[in-house]
Amino acid sequence: MDLWNNLISVFANKLNKTQLNLLGGVEKAEFKDGKLYIHTPDSIYRDWLKLNFEEDIKKSVAILLGEKTDIFYIVKKEKEKEKEERKINEEVKEKPYILTNINPKYTFSNFIVGSCNKVAYASCLSVAENLGKIYNPLFIYGGIGLGKTHLLHATANYLLSINPNANVIYTTADTFMSELIYFMKNGNVLEFRRRYKNVDLLLIDDVQFLEGKERTQIELYHIFNALYLIGKQVILSSDSPPKSLKGIQERLRSRFSSGLVVEVKAPDLTTKLNIISKKAKEKNLNIPSDVKLLIAKTINTNVRELESSLYRLKAYSEILGKPITLKLAREVLKDILELKNVEELSIEKIQKEVASYFSVNLNELLGNSRKKQVRMARQVAMYLARYLTTKSLKDISKAFRRKHHTTVLNAIEKVEKSMEKDRKFKLTVEFLKERIMSL
Ligand code: ADP
Ligand code: MG
Repeated sequence: MDLWNNLISVFANKLNKTQLNLLGGVEKAEFKDGKLYIHTPDSIYRDWLKLNFEEDIKKSVAILLGEKTDIFYIVKKEKEKEKEERKINEEVKEKPYILTNINPKYTFSNFIVGSCNKVAYASCLSVAENLGKIYNPLFIYGGIGLGKTHLLHATANYLLSINPNANVIYTTADTFMSELIYFMKNGNVLEFRRRYKNVDLLLIDDVQFLEGKERTQIELYHIFNALYLIGKQVILSSDSPPKSLKGIQERLRSRFSSGLVVEVKAPDLTTKLNIISKKAKEKNLNIPSDVKLLIAKTINTNVRELESSLYRLKAYSEILGKPITLKLAREVLKDILELKNVEELSIEKIQKEVASYFSVNLNELLGNSRKKQVRMARQVAMYLARYLTTKSLKDISKAFRRKHHTTVLNAIEKVEKSMEKDRKFKLTVEFLKERIMSL
């Protein structure tokens, strides 16, 4: 038997079949210079292993080898992925011929519109419908992960849907530059220009990368002018407005702002919730509304981060075979939550809110009154304390001045039963849950 199986065998008797199977996912374990190295297939598996079994593994090592050890995890996939990515990047550098690479995944219909981005969205749509006629160029700026690239591709996809023969080029400023360099090296700048001569719509993403790139700016200026004169459309994106772009020639900057300049802002809470719902639906994920709220409140600006936390939740819930609940979400997103310094709700806050909602006074809630309304409020507060915090039953019973944690357990059971039976009661509890979370 190899080291890993030996290690597991020490605590195997307390594992169920699924856990045993899952533990078989470790590829190799080795002991070197007093340290244990565990090879895992990917980072999610590593996190799961760490979270659930690190202590057991350490104990096993102590029992089997008679010494304490540090554990190091080696993730296979990431190393390989990195290698692959590097290879792809190198290939792209070598082969600068790929020009039209519109991503069909980014469309107007799967773009969620909110007050933060509706101007940008509407501008793109009308530009696609009135190519070269209204806003030329259209300049979209805003922070990372707010949907600029999505909008550029959506515009292209929309145009191609109403006019499949339209000549569209999407490129990033970076690619534009490396292609120019490539053609210059081969003494073929004319060929480079020719490719842009016949486009109907030219999309250039992330023009902030042109800062300080004089030669590329000159080329873009000429291409831009040529297109502009014959009424062809240009859309640009950048992380900041034209006037804040440093190291860009004045004449190019004034071209950038000569059409329409629009900003995409960070999404507000409602838009974030809408985006989460939409993305969850696309991924066939069933996410309860309190979890959505947790994610929306935790992640401040970046939509890409919203997406990746959904991916993470999905992966964890699949690996662990558990449904996505607030408790699981808190665990899985723990590092983000800590990073963002989101405080855990206090039981006191929950008690106060619930008491005031049911018009019960706080002393009554914590006291021994058997009045129906008070009892209900107390039970709901206990239920929510269990649901919305990571506190133990013992802590909760203490906070409610009860002697036995079974009181809390009974309350939770009661609330859950009533929620099943009584739709109105269920809605009330759900409502309170959301309200308390959004405080
Ligand atoms: P940017 O180019 O501004 O850095 P992206 O367009 O790459 O941002 O967006 C990052 C991710 O977030 C993409 O997967 C995109 O589909 C998604 N996204 C951003 N904004 C929205 C939105 N309003 N509706 C739906 N998805 C969005
Ligand atoms: Mg982008």
